[in-house]
Amino acid sequence: MNSLTTPTVPPTPSASTPVLVVGAGPAGLTTAITLARHGIEVLVVERRPALSGLPRAASVSTRTMELLRSWGLEQEIRAGGAEVEWKQWVGPTLAAAGDAHLTSFPTREQSAVLSPTAPASVPQDHLEPVLLEHLLGFDTARVEMGTEVVGLDSRSDGTTLVTLRDVETRGTRTLHARYLVAADGARSTVRDALGIGMRGPGRLSQAVGTEFRAPLWDLLGDRRYCIYAVTHPEAAGVFVPAGRGDRWVYGVEHELVQEPAASPTEEQSARLIRLGSGLADLEPRIERIGTFTFAAQLADRFRQDAAFLVGDAAHQITPRGGTGMNTAIQSAYDLGWKLAWVLRGWAGPQLLDTYETERRPVAAHNVARSADPHGGARLASQELPADLGGRIAHVWLPSRAGAVSTLDLLGPGLTLFTCGPSASWQRAATSVPGPPLVVHDLDAITARGVGISHGGALLARPDGATAGWWPPGTDPVAALRDAVQAVPPPSATVDRRTEPRPTRYCMADHQG
Ligand SMILES: Cc1cc2nc3c(=O)[nH]c(=O)nc-3n(C[C@H](O)[C@H](O)[C@H](O)COP(=O)(O)OP(=O)(O)OC[C@H]3O[C@@H](n4cnc5c(N)ncnc54)[C@H](O)[C@@H]3O)c2cc1C
Repeated sequence: MNSLTTPTVPPTPSASTPVLVVGAGPAGLTTAITLARHGIEVLVVERRPALSGLPRAASVSTRTMELLRSWGLEQEIRAGGAEVEWKQWVGPTLAAAGDAHLTSFPTREQSAVLSPTAPASVPQDHLEPVLLEHLLGFDTARVEMGTEVVGLDSRSDGTTLVTLRDVETRGTRTLHARYLVAADGARSTVRDALGIGMRGPGRLSQAVGTEFRAPLWDLLGDRRYCIYAVTHPEAAGVFVPAGRGDRWVYGVEHELVQEPAASPTEEQSARLIRLGSGLADLEPRIERIGTFTFAAQLADRFRQDAAFLVGDAAHQITPRGGTGMNTAIQSAYDLGWKLAWVLRGWAGPQLLDTYETERRPVAAHNVARSADPHGGARLASQELPADLGGRIAHVWLPSRAGAVSTLDLLGPGLTLFTCGPSASWQRAATSVPGPPLVVHDLDAITARGVGISHGGALLARPDGATAGWWPPGTDPVAALRDAVQAVPPPSATVDRRTEPRPTRYCMADHQG
């Protein structure tokens, strides 16, 4: 078990790591967890001395919850959230009559059909500590809080020499990183150092978010929704539950003015909350007032040599539609397993090219959607393809009484689903070199649900995307060999520096 470390001793000059992740937000933590779950050594450095205490993202999407569920974190994540239906309530005030509208997140009923889980209304400051604790459970992972990246230098051997600084002591040291993951947020230091530009509007509008506590659930009763839009002429804005109990965020979007809008005072915010709620005698306990700018930007590229941008470093997404963190987590998972496969020697480095080709369209879609003033009003039928991607269908296995989904069978390597006579597929699976390959023989109806007919087979990646599909009568050896070749495989000239190193890097020197 690891603990958070604070550097106290100067490192040896040869300090190195297979993967350095810069930033311990949702993107950095997810990349690191995915790597650690594959047994890859990873170091995360985070500028802040502790995780952010801001609630920020409150809508965790279906696909994000599927990933968190696959790590066994679903209950822990939900424990910090509000039980809500995935609808947006609209009315003049919270106390007045209004209507509930569908959102781009599936309702409970819709979720029950399409996924083993459902979206969660959980604030980011609950989710991040759960991710961090999970990460620290892996011996191959290390996290240094209060350490920032202040310089980069690409080396001829393909590694990056990174200069790290202890935020408190200002002491610096260098570290060789085989791969560098810039998960350092919207103002990414790494992105700037790499000279990667951002395209798109950087200032669309301004918003004021007030975090407060007040017994609004008592007023709302059984109208428990993920977001409440109030149209009161003096207090138009949104109320969003921010976790368990009476914690809320009240957000108001303003036209862009030349100068950043000044934060309202606590009394001004409390007045707006009273107007918006329709409760003239409400006494909200204001905990924080913050202003932020809506931006919708995409990085010119997500990769330069052995450095990758992920999360807000690669895209800035306004809160409309609630996709910023979800895009960050899903892209981080994608990058994580691909880096792990290459570092494990299960695939050739060309696999890393697919990170941008597969994730950029999703990021571009969500950036554009968030720039659209009506982007928040889209429906699940429009937005689920972006969220779920092409993962195999969810079907509960009948033999496991609704407890095990087809998604639960996906492994860290390749997963082969068969139906009916599977001995030849089983034999072929053991004879084809490449990533670990696990075979699951499905009953006829479950197989039908994921698109396999009797005697056929489907090969899935860790993210559930299809890597091969075959009708009955296929030659299993040729089929699997071709599919694994397409991954792509490590070549004879595979770069052995990408193999996991048997020795620990020198970060252990800094254990506090
Ligand atoms: C008000 C608001 C509401 C939102 N609502 C939603 C929502 O409902 N759903 C949703 O999906 N998204 C939402 N978002 C967006 C979401 O918060 C972000 O997309 C998400 O935080 C991105 O995660 P990240 O890990 O990429 O970046 P961040 O969370 O910004 O993390 C980056 C980390 O890198 C660290 N760092 C920066 N520079 C360095 C350096 N040089 N060295 C070391 N560390 C460094 C930072 O300290 C930070 O901890 C919302 C955002 C806001 C502001």
